Amino acid sequence: MPVRLFMDALDAVEFDRRPVDEALNSVLAKQPLHEGLAAFIKHATRSYLSVCEAEPSMLPVARWWVVQHVEQGVRELWAWGRRYRSADGAVRELRLIRLANMLERQRSEAEVAVAAYTAAYGRPAPWPDEWEKKFLVRAREEVSRVVVADVDLTEGLRRVLFDGAIEDAAALYEKDGRRAAIQVVHGQTRRPGGDCLKCRLVLACDEVTRAPGLLGLRSYRRAKLRQVSISDLRYYDNCPAQHHLQTLHLPKINEYATPARIGQAVHRYLETLHAEASGPCQHADMPADTSWPDPQWELDADAAEVGMRMLTYHPSVCPLQENTSDLRIEKTFVFHDTAAQALVIAKPDLVYRDDGAWVWRETKTTRRRQRGGEDVVTEFPQVALATAILGRGLLGGPVDSSRVELEILRPGGADLIMVDPSDPQELDKAYAVLRKMAQPWREDNTFAAAPGDNCRTCPVSRWCPSAAETDPPPSFQETARGADREQPA
Ligand code: SF4
Ligand SMILES: [Zn+2]
Repeated sequence: MPVRLFMDALDAVEFDRRPVDEALNSVLAKQPLHEGLAAFIKHATRSYLSVCEAEPSMLPVARWWVVQHVEQGVRELWAWGRRYRSADGAVRELRLIRLANMLERQRSEAEVAVAAYTAAYGRPAPWPDEWEKKFLVRAREEVSRVVVADVDLTEGLRRVLFDGAIEDAAALYEKDGRRAAIQVVHGQTRRPGGDCLKCRLVLACDEVTRAPGLLGLRSYRRAKLRQVSISDLRYYDNCPAQHHLQTLHLPKINEYATPARIGQAVHRYLETLHAEASGPCQHADMPADTSWPDPQWELDADAAEVGMRMLTYHPSVCPLQENTSDLRIEKTFVFHDTAAQALVIAKPDLVYRDDGAWVWRETKTTRRRQRGGEDVVTEFPQVALATAILGRGLLGGPVDSSRVELEILRPGGADLIMVDPSDPQELDKAYAVLRKMAQPWREDNTFAAAPGDNCRTCPVSRWCPSAAETDPPPSFQETARGADREQPA
């Protein structure tokens, strides 16, 4: 939605020649919008216009540039973005749009190659009235040079990815784009996850398991299908607007506090080890000095030392044993709760079979010396969800010998706590936890901001007009995925 609204506002400026404020007002007035989303659209539109003022000689082009009948099943090829041409038509520029993070993440070579090729050889065509229909392409235009640029709407940056003759674009496509395009057309693999909600096959796809009542709610059959994870419900619990703005994929402040980064680094270390392991982790597999973490987690020596001590205790609770089979590391599962009208996304750290029965393992890191006495199903919503999933046999196999395992790694030891999903009392507790978190979320359609202490660590506070005035956090305490990694135990 943010991108569509941004494109609508830009269309009004570039094709209808409306002043930017007027264009924004008319686009934002068409439907009720969250004020955080409106703030982002205004920022993005102005950022784009200011960064692209450097090319005033280029004229906006409404029609798409489409290459047809390419080869091997690739019948139509085009690139999504904003299109421009010089007054004589000899130069074309395609601007690819990204909400944020342009400096951190490069476009793939295939993306650039396809963008350059379609800008060079694409024939103009309006978007088909029905999306399944072919483009009705017009006559070829004489083009000699193409530019492909990337524009970051958050930071207001423009970077040229390709600038050359059309023959160079053809050579680039041959080198980097052709095979990738054919692979896309012939791809058969299904990877359930965050994209399922947008997929037209979601209601018929075997990868999405039907699970009516998984969230413990009464029926909301008339409600619109939504997607949710335990992290989403946590964000919602913090502040409904914080959850909603992240769901819209508004750019986040990607900074994790040290405890969360230790948790991420420990998880990644174990993930790699388990993916390559042929048996249980040994003490010799654990780091021997503080150089172990991936630099991306930016752990200083003290933090690396804490993580190293946590990992020391993992071999005593490692899930890989002789009877372990069907190991799945960080696999994403999607369940369709047809009562709640929700796609429930779950990504366990590990699932595996022990003598045929499924075991669901979650790992938490904490610097607390000891756990409090609270029940793990009540304390950790991920454990509650895992208990509900295994308790219904949604992964298949026998339920009565399956289990949920919570591994807690501390600098001074490790705990392994088991939950029996076939125990009706555990199931009752699990459903009570899920219901308590999910019901207000399912019934909310406005996602009002709840400013307060949460604003200090809110990843989307930049877009929130209600953000409480607080000092900027010295370092984020627990944000985004990090909040799932380290928890009080
Ligand atoms: S800044 Fe505060 S009020 Fe706004 S979304 Fe974030 S937590 Fe909620
Ligand atoms: Zn292990």
